[in-house]
Amino acid sequence: MFRTIDAFDVKGKRVLVRADLNVPSKDGKVTDTTRIDRSAATLKELAERGAKVVVLTHFGRPKGREDKYSQKLLVEPLAKAVGKTVAWADDCIGEAAEKVIAGLKNGDIALLENVRFHPEEEKNDPAFAKALAALGDLYVNDAFSTAHRAHASTEGLAHLLPAAAGRLMQAELEALAKALGTPEKPVAAVVGGAKVSTKLDLLGNLVSRVDYLIIGGGMANTFLFAMGKNVGKSLCEKEMADTAREILEKAKAAKCHIVLPVDAVVAAEFAENAANEVVSIDAVPADKMILDAGPASAEAIIDRLGGCKTLVWNGPLGAFEINPFDKATNAVARAAAERTKQGKLLTVAGGGDTVAALAKAGVDEAFSYVSTAGGAFLEWLEGKTLPGVAALEIKPSGGCGCGHSH
Ligand code: AMP
Repeated sequence: MFRTIDAFDVKGKRVLVRADLNVPSKDGKVTDTTRIDRSAATLKELAERGAKVVVLTHFGRPKGREDKYSQKLLVEPLAKAVGKTVAWADDCIGEAAEKVIAGLKNGDIALLENVRFHPEEEKNDPAFAKALAALGDLYVNDAFSTAHRAHASTEGLAHLLPAAAGRLMQAELEALAKALGTPEKPVAAVVGGAKVSTKLDLLGNLVSRVDYLIIGGGMANTFLFAMGKNVGKSLCEKEMADTAREILEKAKAAKCHIVLPVDAVVAAEFAENAANEVVSIDAVPADKMILDAGPASAEAIIDRLGGCKTLVWNGPLGAFEINPFDKATNAVARAAAERTKQGKLLTVAGGGDTVAALAKAGVDEAFSYVSTAGGAFLEWLEGKTLPGVAALEIKPSGGCGCGHSH
């Protein structure tokens, strides 16, 4: 259970909002305002409710104060997103910040300079957190994507001021709870992508939480190899075979049904429009590599999803960036989107390339929730406690059944 901004009477209060405005930029101009636009809802609501809104964020990975990582370039797009002027302070603590905040009227918004200009931020330094806390009366964390880091502005502050989740954080936590906390069963997970070694914790947690674990992408090759199949020249972590077999055993014990490809699209090279053919998974030629799940595999996955109520998705089923090896990912994503539209399936996806793969399939809008949080989303799927989320918990007891220790 976590507090939301509904619990706060914000009128006349200085509300410190940790947002994630770490947007891409080129030549001093923001090139994609998605994160700014998505953050606007919480800021606008707090301003409309009469708060003095003070926005904290990081931008890039500066080593101390570095001009090229100044957040001043965010002021204009932020003002556009919230529909009002945004005051600017060129430091996030001390006199510069105090002066700007003292000048705010109810409903005003200010953006402070990069919290990572102070190395103490990432060290979660208590004195730095105290200096931040001195600037506000209330703390709102709206940055799920940095919640896997215990930094001063993402974790430390929550212990020093009354703390609540902003609307974005709330939406993310609610979607994740629906997907793995208290999901409607049967639950399926699609896990694809390149390597087993980067997703061990994720696979380990999911086998004990889902009814069907659908494995695709390069990592399926490692499982197939571990089961004695010939995977030719495919990307395959042969040294992970024992680990893959352990995961299969764990799944069996947990009554989690593992779904692996039954056919594959193979080619001689990893290249756009490479000559390719569909083969049975038992007949992968020694000089070819698997670059996508085959049509029978996609069909079997779609059939399986037909009986499911909830789907969690991380990682593509093939080398989706190069045509035509995006077919299985597209087919399964579109079928899942269709069932979502019909109200028959809850679909939650996220992490790394998944957002790009679903966007390429044209279904990112149709899924119930697509998280852009990357590392934080993955750590959540791994069942880890995210410090930034744990710090917002009202009481550390009970547990929501999602595999987390809160
Ligand atoms: P990840 O970041 O772990 O989700 O991995 C995504 C990457 O896996 C993408 O770049 C895909 O091209 C790659 N991938 C998926 N399937 C395969 C495959 N069969 N062979 C090689 N790479 C693949």
